[in-house]
Amino acid sequence: MNVYDSELVAGILEEKDYQPAESYEEADAIFVNTCAIREGAEQRVLARLGQFKTRKDAASDTVIGVLGCMAQNLKDKILTEQPCVDFVLGPDTYRNLSGLLDQYHRDEETFINTRLSRHEVYDGMFPSRQEGINAWIAISRGCDKFCTFCIVPFTRGRERSRPVESITEEVRRVTDQGFVEITLLGQNVNSYRHDRYRFPDLLQAVAAVEGVKRIRYTSPHPRDVDDSLLQVMRDTPRICNHIHLPVQAGSTEVLRRMNRTYTRDEYLRLVDKIRTYLPECGLTTDLIVGFPGETGAQFRETLSLMEEVRYDNAFMFKYSPRPYTKAVEFPDSVPEEEKSRRLQEVIDLQNTITLENNRRLIGSTAAVLVEKDSKKSDQQWMGRTDENRVVVFDKNGELPRDVVSLRIADAHGVTLFGEHVRET
Ligand code: SAH
Ligand code: SF4
Repeated sequence: MNVYDSELVAGILEEKDYQPAESYEEADAIFVNTCAIREGAEQRVLARLGQFKTRKDAASDTVIGVLGCMAQNLKDKILTEQPCVDFVLGPDTYRNLSGLLDQYHRDEETFINTRLSRHEVYDGMFPSRQEGINAWIAISRGCDKFCTFCIVPFTRGRERSRPVESITEEVRRVTDQGFVEITLLGQNVNSYRHDRYRFPDLLQAVAAVEGVKRIRYTSPHPRDVDDSLLQVMRDTPRICNHIHLPVQAGSTEVLRRMNRTYTRDEYLRLVDKIRTYLPECGLTTDLIVGFPGETGAQFRETLSLMEEVRYDNAFMFKYSPRPYTKAVEFPDSVPEEEKSRRLQEVIDLQNTITLENNRRLIGSTAAVLVEKDSKKSDQQWMGRTDENRVVVFDKNGELPRDVVSLRIADAHGVTLFGEHVRET
């Protein structure tokens, strides 16, 4: 979402004749688009501001702005504690960014605008994207779910969806620019609702745009995954066979205290249903260890759930207390070292499962969308399968954006290695 928002900010400024600089050392204005989801993300931004200050020391009229969720979270604290910062803007305030810059040049006064909007979806504003394969497209903003650990409803405000026509218009633009894969974005992407359109209707509308090879979306909330979504996925080949389905925890009691609105059994039944509709569907997740009060037994329920579902991959986090959230007031009985130990345990387990899942694919064939040179060699491509698995293979005349048929020959870590099935 932040990549998308940064591209949106770039688009808004380029409309007003601002040009991107090669590096921050040459920039007249530097914007830091920030994340507040965990404390670690905020710490990294503060370190980065220290770096940007050196530019300001060299050229004192350089303007530095902090944008996004951390701006929303910390507001004037940033201005008082980071004197190099000139302004602080929350995620609903970018529409008039160039006007704000003009005002700053006129008055030379620092300012803050972190007002959240019930309506702003940046309709009619289009991001400036770098050439690529995948284009991110936000379809909704904000979140109303209020999970007790999560700062998003406070930093991004109320959930609101963009009109379908505005989204399909953006899809047409990016396909004209050569993008072949679309990832629809929302904090709760599948609770999308605009007029009579719900998320499955939107997926169909996007799939109908010519030139789109693959459609992905992230992140759905398990509660809002229903039969109609799975039917549309099953019946529309362009929609990728992958669901990122954040579970957060394996214990019903912890899920209840997280306000996730589903039990362990309900989640597992949903996984069964997904696999009935989409037998080969790639499944990935997010999970948190060390939520306040998580007992050893409750933690082991997360491990057993992972064994049961056998995710292809997972983003795994240590609980990080966030301001405004309910959980920050819960007694936190899990010592820091224990949280780290639990985190390592889920990472080790997931690595084992990923490798086992991948080894099982050896000998099968896969349609791989070619993305770019592999990390290790310019003689090899990396691409992704429909299920979002990374495959590395020798170049053989194909180009990025092509879809090639490969036989999976080997698996190491999270990477699959492919061989050509036939000459392309
Ligand atoms: N809307 C998505 C998640 C968005 S935030 C959903 O509901 O699934 C991305 C991930 O960050 C979450 O899934 C969660 O695993 C993690 N996260 C959010 N707040 C956190 C916190 N306070 N501490 C640790 N991880 C957190
Ligand atoms: Fe945060 Fe996702 Fe829960 Fe919304 S649904 S509060 S974004 S974790």
